[in-house]
Formats: sequence, structure tokens, C-alpha cells
Amino acid sequence: MGLGKFVWMDGKFVKWKDARIHIMTHSLHYGSAVFEGIHSYKTGGGTAIFRLDDHIERLFSSVNAMSMKLSLTKKQLKGAIIKAARINKIGDGYIRPLVYYGYSSIGVYPKGVSTNVAIAAIPWGHFYSGSLSIMTSSFRRNSERSSVYGAKISGNYANSVLAMYEARKKGFDEALMLDLHGNVSEGPAENIFIVKNNEIVSPLSRSALPGITRDSVLKISRGLGLKACEKRVKPGEARAANELFFCGTGTGIAPITSIDGKRVGNGKPGKITLGIKQKYDDIVRGKDKKYRKWLSFI
Ligand code: PMP
Repeated sequence: MGLGKFVWMDGKFVKWKDARIHIMTHSLHYGSAVFEGIHSYKTGGGTAIFRLDDHIERLFSSVNAMSMKLSLTKKQLKGAIIKAARINKIGDGYIRPLVYYGYSSIGVYPKGVSTNVAIAAIPWGHFYSGSLSIMTSSFRRNSERSSVYGAKISGNYANSVLAMYEARKKGFDEALMLDLHGNVSEGPAENIFIVKNNEIVSPLSRSALPGITRDSVLKISRGLGLKACEKRVKPGEARAANELFFCGTGTGIAPITSIDGKRVGNGKPGKITLGIKQKYDDIVRGKDKKYRKWLSFI
């Protein structure tokens, strides 16, 4: 992962090494920040950010979920993100806008605490290049009963970190998390797809983040003439899949070739997965006119 040169903090660019906050920052103690992970890609027409407006929409709904008072408009935030991407010359890169409750006294209730915004932008590719082995986590994904559905709240990620450590300690690459009802939810930082009998299924779970990559995959698959749907998925159905893959902004599309120590399909990345991955890669690189609307050139 590369380093950025400048970080946008509350309206100003500061040098990477000077992008600091006070130890008494509310969000650091209580997980009360909200954030986005956004990807940019080099294309034939210059660098383009993938589905920027959708990420901004989701960030603003997370801000509302956390009752934050943000003085920036969506347009201003979009402008700042584009500037951060440009000034850091990220090319293939990752952008992390973070909205957090700032310096405060010790209480949990953030009354009178400032809402601060930072945007880091770094040159970067994806987490994984090969295929993944996953295990079903003993940790259940935070449910909508303990958080807000659809909000990307930093505190939810303690749950993800626990699942990741459990998986890595046992020698797996990643975790599969079930929801409160025992149905398949998602990975610690990505959504999962199940392919069975040429049908592509995205689990319907109110514990899973409605991912922007997931939405793209559903649309791309239908565009390719494949049958794609959302429905409840039992863990046994995931284990019996012909193909499995993870998807997310940071993960890209990553084939899963084993689950709980058992091979998925023939133990190799599946044909349908690889077809969707190829199409996705073409789209983010601006090679498919039909999906240019998803790109914001910077
Ligand atoms: N679920 C979780 C918990 C995530 O952190 C992410 C990454 N943002 C995703 C799913 C995938 O979402 P997206 O495709 O919007 O990046």
C-alpha cells in the first residue's frame, strides 16, 4: 500500500506526516466515526473514480445514522475527494473519507462535540490477487438490532477485526460471517456471492452492508444475461455452491476456492466468477461504454 502526500482535513491539505488528531478524540474511543472506501482506476481517458456519487450518498446516510452535523454539502465533499485524488496523483488508488466526532471530554454522548472530516487518498490496488480460503466465523455479524442497517460505522469493524483474527489464527485467509438468524451475511469487509446451477445469488441479510460492488455485480451479471437474485442463504447452501466469490471496493472480485476446509466446486476459481471479474475490470478501466456513467474522471 502506498503513502499519500497530503491529507485533506477540515478544508485544508496537510502533509501526510502531519495528519494527526488528539488522543481524546471521541470516535477513537467509541467507534463513532463513519467512513467510505472508494477506488480509482487508470483508464484510457485518465484516472476515474468508480461510483463516486453512490459512495457519497452512503456516507451521508451514515452521517445521519450517527446524528452528526456535517457542514459540508454533497457537492463540496465530492469536490474535496476529487482534489485529494488529484493532489496525491493516485492513479490506481484508494480514497478514504472519514467523518468523526472530534476532541471531547470522556462521555459517550457526543453532545457539543465537533464533527470533523478527513480524506486520505493513496495509490493502491486490491487486497488479494489469488483465490481465497475462508472459514465460517464463530462471531455473528453485528445485526440491525445492534447497529443501523446500511451505515458504514467504524464501531462495526471491531466485529470484523475479531472475525479476521480468528480466521488468520486458524490458517484461513478470510472469514464468512453469519447473521443473528444463522443465515449467510458477508465477509468482514466484503460481500459474498453464491453461484449454484448457473444462478448468482447475493444473500439477503439485514446484517450485511449493501455494497456498491455487490450492486454492480448484480447489474453486470444481468447485463451478461445471467440469472442473478437476492435471497436468504443457509450456511449449507454456501458450502454446496458450485462457485463462491467475495466482492468489495478494497477486495475487488476475489474467487473463494475453499470453505471450512472443503473445496468449492473443483477447487479452482469458477468460470462464472472469472467472467464477471473480467467484465468488472473492463468497466472500472473505462473499456465498456454502457457503464461509463459509473466513472467520474478527475
Ligand atoms: N461489507 C462490509 C462490511 C464492508 O466493509 C464492505 C466494504 N466497504 C463491503 C461489504 C463491500 O462494500 P462496497 O462494495 O461498497 O465496498
